[in-house]
Amino acid sequence: MSVLITNIGELITNQPDGQAAGAAYAAIAAAALVIEDGQVAWTGPAARAPAADQAVDAGGRAVLPGFVDSHAHLVFAGERGAEFAARMAGQPYRAGGIRATVAATRRAGDDELRANLSRLAAEMLAQGTTTFECKSGYGLTVPDEARSVAIAAEFTVEVTYLGAHVVPPEFDGNEAGYVELVCGPMLDACAPRATWVDVFCERGAFGRDEAAAILAAGAAAGLRPRVHANQLGPGPGVQLAVQAGAASADHCTYTDDADVDALASSPTVATLLPGVEFSTRSPYPDARRLLDAGAVVALATDCNPGSCFTSSMPLCIALAVREMHMTTQEAVWAATAGGARALRRGDVGHLGVGARADLVMIDGPSHAYLAYRPGVPLVAGVWRAGERVAGAGPGS
Ligand SMILES: [Zn+2]
Repeated sequence: MSVLITNIGELITNQPDGQAAGAAYAAIAAAALVIEDGQVAWTGPAARAPAADQAVDAGGRAVLPGFVDSHAHLVFAGERGAEFAARMAGQPYRAGGIRATVAATRRAGDDELRANLSRLAAEMLAQGTTTFECKSGYGLTVPDEARSVAIAAEFTVEVTYLGAHVVPPEFDGNEAGYVELVCGPMLDACAPRATWVDVFCERGAFGRDEAAAILAAGAAAGLRPRVHANQLGPGPGVQLAVQAGAASADHCTYTDDADVDALASSPTVATLLPGVEFSTRSPYPDARRLLDAGAVVALATDCNPGSCFTSSMPLCIALAVREMHMTTQEAVWAATAGGARALRRGDVGHLGVGARADLVMIDGPSHAYLAYRPGVPLVAGVWRAGERVAGAGPGS
């Protein structure tokens, strides 16, 4: 069955004429789109739209590719609202806070972890996120990491093994022993259900050599690298990510000229997570410098119970525009096609013919409303693989 969505005020396709899908921001005014077999079958001016079995009138609203959240930590138990309140009262954020969530996660049963992830996944979908990545990293024992990866795999194909999130307390003073575990039995237990390997390369977490060893071990087990890099201060993370051929270097909050050059001259995506700077009251990454140098920039939430507990890609877009000086077009591209690039996905993040029909319809005539009306629930409809999965708004 085919579905025609017509009377679209602005359709963001991210497929400029003659260019590869997702190559750059592109939009069609007064547009229509046809879905067939879960894929985009046609896009163009509404006046030239072909007939379809069913029609949805968008009422002049904008339609975008579903958001691609390429960085989230959703397998955990407990919450850290009090830590957030203390931070807002003046205490700095430190990587060690992760340990509180590790303790709660280890205590939790599988069903509790599954229910929490299910709730967050539903929250994301309702806000227009149709693809998300999910990391382990709050178990930090072989069985707890293995079950974290297994539970994540029930909800997404983009599963990341992050045994190297932080050194757990039982390995205090024996970091080398923990790295051995991460590269050995823990990796063996997690690799079958994961796609990616990630490491928190940061002072207080893992140094350059440990991080390089962990990525290499992951790669040898068939996992593809991505890196938490340069979040809390300058460091080797970005260079390591580029040298390791990582799909993405995430955070990039503290970058120097060499880091920017390395990102600009490599396919490694710079994934910016402005919700973290917002939630930790920290300086934002220099998105303009990265974009102007030619780096590929993605936006993601980093949804986690410590440094940033938002699941909202629209919030990240608004922050990117208002705080990081990205244009509205750059921010929307980064939250869709950029995220797809950071996950090396060609089927999502754009609405070229053949793309998976993942769409979000917003209550506003243009993509700019996502930043122009921050904090307002604008999502009027969400389609995933052609099925309407959220929003009972126009045309239903
Ligand atoms: Zn993270």
